[in-house]
Amino acid sequence: MAGILVVAEQLDGALRDISPELVGAAVSVKDQIGGPLQVLVIGADPQALAAGVNLEGVDEILTVEMPSDHFDPLIYEEAIVAAGGQGKPSVVLVGHTASGMAYGAAVAARLGSGFASDVFILGHDGDELIATRSAYGNKVEMEMGFTGKGVVVLTLRGATFIAPETPGSATISPLVVDISAVEGVSTHLEYQEAPPSDIDITKADFILSVGRGIQDKDNLPRFEALADKVGATFGCSRPIVDSGWLPKPHQVGQSGKVASNCQLYFALGISGAVQHLFGMKHVDTIIAVNTDPEAPIFNVATYGTTVDLFELTDALERHFN
Ligand SMILES: Cc1cc2nc3c(=O)[nH]c(=O)nc-3n(C[C@H](O)[C@H](O)[C@H](O)COP(=O)(O)OP(=O)(O)OC[C@H]3O[C@@H](n4cnc5c(N)ncnc54)[C@H](O)[C@@H]3O)c2cc1C
Repeated sequence: MAGILVVAEQLDGALRDISPELVGAAVSVKDQIGGPLQVLVIGADPQALAAGVNLEGVDEILTVEMPSDHFDPLIYEEAIVAAGGQGKPSVVLVGHTASGMAYGAAVAARLGSGFASDVFILGHDGDELIATRSAYGNKVEMEMGFTGKGVVVLTLRGATFIAPETPGSATISPLVVDISAVEGVSTHLEYQEAPPSDIDITKADFILSVGRGIQDKDNLPRFEALADKVGATFGCSRPIVDSGWLPKPHQVGQSGKVASNCQLYFALGISGAVQHLFGMKHVDTIIAVNTDPEAPIFNVATYGTTVDLFELTDALERHFN
């Protein structure tokens, strides 16, 4: 077994950014892994999407034509297992996205492969593949090898690997996959766009964000008022959204929004999980307030304090009111 199989991801007929990023990750270890680099493109018109992943380093694009562009994890699973059976790759790269997570582990189980999720560094020790991911609540980075595994399936974090810029000259080969066993098991009903919102985390230059440290929904209004008072956009961590305390557009992080234009990020009671850091760790000035001196947010903070956030908020309210 040799070679790398990248699974391209698309949404409603448009290639997602993670697809060329996966190609970039594959190219970075291709020489050590050996064998060809194949990209699997699945959809109603996969030929139309092939150009977006026909990048330098790709040897072959396998196109799997399906009745619809709507994502179905069972169809992806069948297609990847079929492609794996044909090309016998030693590494299968999938996006660590809602879609990738829906079939990545199942594919690994079907192939009897090694598996690691949310990988953010791909390297090698000689010709052995090394995948780096977080562990123990993001307190350590763990390097994983896969000794004795003929195949390894990895889901790779988005916006982390660099996509090649130069177009490639891959051959394009159709792959016929029998989906009769899974076709119709699930039915696509509709695709819903997120409701419009006047909050735009991606454009905000100053964000005041709250996390689970605020303890109770009833405490929310005072932080919202403080954000308003100091001219900050009101952001939050995911548990605040998951609890229904704030709508989704306020969420900063991997499954929320990236604070792309933010200069100042004020984090109150946020631990700094890797998924939250994904959306804000690049910000020039980060001020973190957390009673736990070991909280990972302090690894990225410009300024930090372990003072109780409620005491600090009392003082800020006195100052600004
Ligand atoms: C696939 C996936 C995607 C995800 N996407 C996101 C995402 O987009 N955004 C995101 O935020 N999370 C995301 N998460 C969740 C993430 O892993 C964490 O669970 C989440 O970020 C934790 O939120 P938190 O920091 O508010 O809560 P906690 O981790 O519970 O941290 C609360 C912090 O508050 C501090 N604290 C408590 N009381 C006080 C006080 N009185 N004063 C000061 N500090 C106090 C505590 O010390 C603690 O560090 C995702 C997870 C997964 C698996």
